[in-house]
Amino acid sequence: MADLLHIIGGGMAGSEAAWQAAQAGIDVVIHEMRPGTGTFAHQTDRLAEMVCSNSFRSDDDEQNAVGLLHWEMRAAGGLIMAMADSHRLPAGGALAVDREAFALAVTERLLAHPRIALERSEITSLPAAGHWIIATGPLTSDALGQAIRAETGTQALAFFDAIAPIVHADSVDLSKAWFQSRYDKGETEAERTAYLNCPMDRAQYEAFIDALLAADKTEFHEGETAGYFDGCLPIEVMAERGRETPRHGPMKPVGLTNPHAPDVKPHAVVQLRRDNALGTLYNIVGFQTKMKYGAQVDVFRMIPGLEGARFARLGGIHRNTFLNSPTLLDCELRLKPKPHIRFAGQITGVEGYVESAAMGLLAGRLAAAELTGRALPPVPPTTATGALVAHITGGAEAKTFQPMNVNFGLFPPVDGLKAGRRGRRDRYKAYTDRAKADWHAWLGHG
Ligand SMILES: Cc1cc2nc3c(=O)[nH]c(=O)nc-3n(C[C@H](O)[C@H](O)[C@H](O)COP(=O)(O)OP(=O)(O)OC[C@H]3O[C@@H](n4cnc5c(N)ncnc54)[C@H](O)[C@@H]3O)c2cc1C
Repeated sequence: MADLLHIIGGGMAGSEAAWQAAQAGIDVVIHEMRPGTGTFAHQTDRLAEMVCSNSFRSDDDEQNAVGLLHWEMRAAGGLIMAMADSHRLPAGGALAVDREAFALAVTERLLAHPRIALERSEITSLPAAGHWIIATGPLTSDALGQAIRAETGTQALAFFDAIAPIVHADSVDLSKAWFQSRYDKGETEAERTAYLNCPMDRAQYEAFIDALLAADKTEFHEGETAGYFDGCLPIEVMAERGRETPRHGPMKPVGLTNPHAPDVKPHAVVQLRRDNALGTLYNIVGFQTKMKYGAQVDVFRMIPGLEGARFARLGGIHRNTFLNSPTLLDCELRLKPKPHIRFAGQITGVEGYVESAAMGLLAGRLAAAELTGRALPPVPPTTATGALVAHITGGAEAKTFQPMNVNFGLFPPVDGLKAGRRGRRDRYKAYTDRAKADWHAWLGHG
């Protein structure tokens, strides 16, 4: 008889983890703090409550990475996808759901499972022994957040994200941008060319500042305090403080020579820093922002070299509790210094309902395998689930780690395919075909 698995948090990740483990024959207790202790975003006592939009985003499993994640979770018998499919609303290519009926159905299915028990209580300290999954999400209660921070150190658990937009490297126009680190700093050639630089002349800079100031911005939610002002000012707030401020901050033009026009000194330079080991993604340095998504695309495509940029994710600043997973978690989502504790969901540094549920699915399967003495091979990084977990537990830059959505930039390239915009459909189809075959093979081990 296997031991009990405890799961803290009955959100997207905790619900899916519980389902997967219980289906594998493990007895599970879910500890959910609502309704006794609430959050500013949850409205009900239901499990798997969708706190904001009612969309699971694209359902296209051939051309879209999030659609592929849907496919993988369906293939793994996922509860979140099954209930989303049962309560689907018409929404074109997106998977939108009736949020009330969805959360009710997830709750009922979990409570009806003979191996699952629900305890309505807040957990306020790190468990000392047993088998645990912590899936307490972006709004982890203060007491547990402090307990995690005491274990991991203050640098390793963030309470806000300040996300700069991330661009697919192959969408940057290299006839305008160039690779160079400021003052050519670095021991190796890779370090000396770690940044992509986009130059602006005075007119371009002034037009860019005007656009930043005029752009639509989002407000903080009630209960979300604007605690970002010290270390990571939004780029538009910087521009509000003074038109020249960004030029003395992240857009300063010093220490850089444009090889496309070596004699012209740029008025300002936007720098993009490599964001993953594969070198397929770059983040725009210092460009965390509260601009609305549509406005971000318009404004950031004004940057010379980024006119055709495709964004792997747009910027944002939110209340969000998340770990520095590249340093803290092993590839099975276990806390390195306390491997009896796994993490799952948004707290691991993924972003979104679907990604959070996927990390719950994985944690539930890995915990069940461990409890029954089976060893699962690592999830192939060629699958959407595997690409995400490989990114958060190793592929991402630990120093600048920010939460990530699933996207094809996280996948190892498929050899022999045309790069750039024209080859995209074939490339994405090749990624998803490969992922499906590899995911099936991995599920065969479970
Ligand atoms: C304001 C806001 C808006 C968002 N909008 C969207 C959106 O539109 N689309 C999208 O895809 N994603 C959105 N997200 C992200 C979304 O919250 C997550 O993607 C997803 O819900 C995370 O799943 P999770 O299981 O990790 O956390 P959650 O779904 O939040 O579940 C965590 C659970 O843990 C419980 N809990 C917390 N602390 C404790 C404790 N100490 N003891 C016991 N239980 C505890 C909570 O009550 C909660 O039920 C939003 C997040 C926020 C904060």
